[in-house]
Amino acid sequence: MSTNLKFKSSYHDLEQSKLFFSKELKKWYLKNFRRLPWRGNKKDPNYPYKILVSEFMLQQTGVKTVIPYFENFIAKWPDISSLAKASENEILKYWQGLGYYSRGRNLLKTAQIINIDYNGIIPSNLDDLLSLPGIGEYASAAIRSIAFDKKATVIDGNVKRVIARFFALNGKLKDNEKDISSLAKYLTPNKGNANYSQAIMELGALICRPKQSNCSDCVVSHNCLSLKKGLVSKIPEAKNQINKKNLRCVSFLAINKSNSVLITKRKNENLLKDMWQLPSSDWINQDNNNKLLSQAPFKAKWSEQGRKINYKFSHINLLNETYITNVSSKINIRDEDFKWVDLKSLHEYPLVTLTKKILIDNNLI
Ligand code: SF4
Repeated sequence: MSTNLKFKSSYHDLEQSKLFFSKELKKWYLKNFRRLPWRGNKKDPNYPYKILVSEFMLQQTGVKTVIPYFENFIAKWPDISSLAKASENEILKYWQGLGYYSRGRNLLKTAQIINIDYNGIIPSNLDDLLSLPGIGEYASAAIRSIAFDKKATVIDGNVKRVIARFFALNGKLKDNEKDISSLAKYLTPNKGNANYSQAIMELGALICRPKQSNCSDCVVSHNCLSLKKGLVSKIPEAKNQINKKNLRCVSFLAINKSNSVLITKRKNENLLKDMWQLPSSDWINQDNNNKLLSQAPFKAKWSEQGRKINYKFSHINLLNETYITNVSSKINIRDEDFKWVDLKSLHEYPLVTLTKKILIDNNLI
């Protein structure tokens, strides 16, 4: 423990805090934890697999959103060997709507490597886990501690907030990363780490919440420095607001007499790669409809549908307008990434959420 850290935490006897913190948290967790589908029977041979899948899904996405995706995913691929045989297209389809699709691709690659190089057994060793696609410091710690009960320190947003408040670390979380990491490691118990890791994250999710912390129900409240100093609402300091870009685009909905629609595979390496969507213009920041409409996939009478859709990405607000055309036959597009697909078969394609919204809006799916 650095002198600096000792100074900041002078109110606490750290050794005392360590014992008290993990013991109280684990007791509280065993009485209060949420019954989540990946928190099943620890003796189930597929328990580590379920933790692996849940950790991939929970990166960037909240628990409530993840639950139905997790359940569908496990029903389809109940173990690592079945997942290793899946196609990327199938994975993307099951990931449809969850966002951050590279997680799904990496999960598939990880399952394939584990299936071949580790005989289908998820490794518990840190270096092995870190060598797998999509597994970084946080996910490796979560898998090691939750799935294998190893001593490993999980530090997600909830843990950062709990530690920052408990030790009254002023400022933004990102300015206290080093101290939070040292304190989190220091507090990690040698035994019973599976329950401890989940307990500290659960306290952050249920009690020590970002806006409304429920200190009166908190098991560590009598030792919490922020509570003692009246700083709970001030710690952590709010992040700077992200300035989102406002962009516009046009989606082109072409439908023919035999109820097929034209869709196309996204080529963008960074965003929604390999997902399917209605043909779309570039995303631009100008009010220039002629430029957008000139990017239609073929010449036809395209009519404005009327309803605009606002779609929010983490860094972009996208305003979409849809233009529709009805054609008598399947117009040939000389690009293998364009396809006419019967409406009844659209469910076989991983569609981007915006396209799904447009199709639902038009009563096509
Ligand atoms: S007492 Fe309040 S601020 Fe302190 S750890 Fe508990 S919930 Fe968070």
